Amino acid sequence: MSDYDSLLDRAKEELPEPITQQERFQLPDLNIRKEGKTTVVRNFADVLDRLNRDPDEVVPRLLREMGAARLEGYVETYVLCSECGRPDTHLQKEGRTLVLQCDACGGHRPVRARKPTAETEQEADAVEEGEVYELKIEDTGRQGDGVAHKDKYTIFVEGAGKGQVVKAKINNISGTLAFGEMIEVVEG
Ligand SMILES: [Zn+2]
Repeated sequence: MSDYDSLLDRAKEELPEPITQQERFQLPDLNIRKEGKTTVVRNFADVLDRLNRDPDEVVPRLLREMGAARLEGYVETYVLCSECGRPDTHLQKEGRTLVLQCDACGGHRPVRARKPTAETEQEADAVEEGEVYELKIEDTGRQGDGVAHKDKYTIFVEGAGKGQVVKAKINNISGTLAFGEMIEVVEG
């Protein structure tokens, strides 16, 4: 082996990996939401758009990549015709709406991800400014406020004491901290 060849070999060995990574296509940001055990890509239609691929081409391959558990809901939403129940369908965009067009019976319907129940529940549980909540005061904050917890929020309630259950109105939310005032003492 010539010096040149061995140098070339070494150079190849030392070539940084990232070259292939740079060439790799950057996947559009997926707007993913977990719904219990299901993962839903909320901007699926937009992603398909940006992939510049016919959904017919993407979907079957995507399906193969996806776990069987997710398959059922996916197929129900994106594949099966709601008129005749057959999978002989294709997706097409009509304006901003993704439509499932059936090749078997001619039926068509807009594709809508199933109602995200987990999200709805989460919203119902979340703390919102201006709302009144019944809170169990678990602690006393440094400023002497009562401290309660709800979901991910730590809530400071002015005028409430440790051990009390109070109704408090939320005046301000900052990140996972919420600040409220006591409306009435329910217990304690
Ligand atoms: Zn059909």
